[in-house]
Amino acid sequence: MDQTQQEPKPPFPEQHLEKPELESQLEPKPKYAAPLYKGAGKLKDQVALVTGGDSGIGRAVAVLFAREGADVAILYLEADSDAEETRRAVEQEGRRALLIRGDVSRPEVAREAVNRTLGEFGKLNILVNNAAFQKHQPSLEEISEEQWDLTFRTNIYGYFYMTKAALPHLKPGDAIINTGSITGLEGNQSLLDYSATKGAIHAFTKSLAQNLVERGIRVNCVAPGPVWTPLNPADQPAEKVAKFGASVPYGRPAQPEEISPAYVYFASAADSSYVTGEVLTLTGGKPTAG
Ligand code: NAD
Repeated sequence: MDQTQQEPKPPFPEQHLEKPELESQLEPKPKYAAPLYKGAGKLKDQVALVTGGDSGIGRAVAVLFAREGADVAILYLEADSDAEETRRAVEQEGRRALLIRGDVSRPEVAREAVNRTLGEFGKLNILVNNAAFQKHQPSLEEISEEQWDLTFRTNIYGYFYMTKAALPHLKPGDAIINTGSITGLEGNQSLLDYSATKGAIHAFTKSLAQNLVERGIRVNCVAPGPVWTPLNPADQPAEKVAKFGASVPYGRPAQPEEISPAYVYFASAADSSYVTGEVLTLTGGKPTAG
C-alpha cells in the first residue's frame, strides 16, 4: 500500500456553513478514516469520553480510539446527524459508541455525561476535552459580553467541569487530553476571546499534570494549526474558507485523520508513559514558540 496520504489543498469551494455547523455539509468532506493507521490494541477494553466527538477532530479521535480497542462515549451540542455518523464509524471498528447530547458549559451536564458513560461501560479511562466555540471578530469592541462569556464557558469552564466530574473515576495509568490551539501560543488578531481560552487550556494542562503526577494520571494537550473541520467554515466568509490553511508551509490545512494519532499517543501508556504536561503542536511545518 502507498504509504503517503493524499490530502486536499486549497482552493476549496467557496462556502459558509450556518451554526450549528454540520460536517456532512462541508466540501470536500473532512477525512477521518486514517486508512494508513493500523490498530495495535493500545487501548484494549478501555473507555473514553470525547467532548465534541460528533465531528471534526473529535470524530477522528473516537474512530482511532475504537481501532485501538476502546469503547467511546461522545458528548456534543446538537448535531445529531453528525453524531450518528461517528457512531457508525466507531461500530465499524468493532467497538461500542454512546451518544450524549448536552452542553459542556453546564456542570450538571458534565456530571450526567460521566455518569451515563459509567452506567453504559462501567468505567472511564480517558477523558478528551475537545468541544469548543469560536467566533471571529475584527475588533475588541465587536466582541459582546455575551460572546466573551459563551467562549469562556464552553472552552475553559467546560474543560474544568468535565475534568471535575471525571477525575474521581480515573485511576493510575488513565489519561486526560485537552485540545488547545496554535492560537493559544501565538494569539490571533481576530480571535481574542478564543485564543485567550486556548492559552488558558495550555496552562490548565501543565498545572493539572503536575497536580496529578502522584495519582499516576497523565494530562497532555494537542495544539493544532488549521484543520479542515466545520469550525472555521461556520465562522469565516466563504472566500476565506476557500483559502483555509494556505498560509502554513504545507500550503493546506490538516485533515482530522492527521491529528487524531497524537491523541492515541497521549492516551496510550505504551507510547507516552513518561509524558505529562506536554503541549504538542501540529502545524504543517509552521515553527512555534511553544
Ligand atoms: P468541530 O466543529 O468539528 O467540533 C467542535 C465540537 O464542539 C462540535 O462537535 C460541537 O458539537 C462541540 N461543541 C461546541 N460547543 C459545545 C457545547 N457547549 N457543549 C458540548 N459540545 C459542544 O471543530 P473541530 O475543529 O474539530 O474542533 C475541535 C477542537 O479543535 C476545538 O477545541 C477547537 O478549538 C480545536 N482546534 C481546531 C482547529 C481547526 O482549525 N479546526 C485548530 C486548532 C484547534
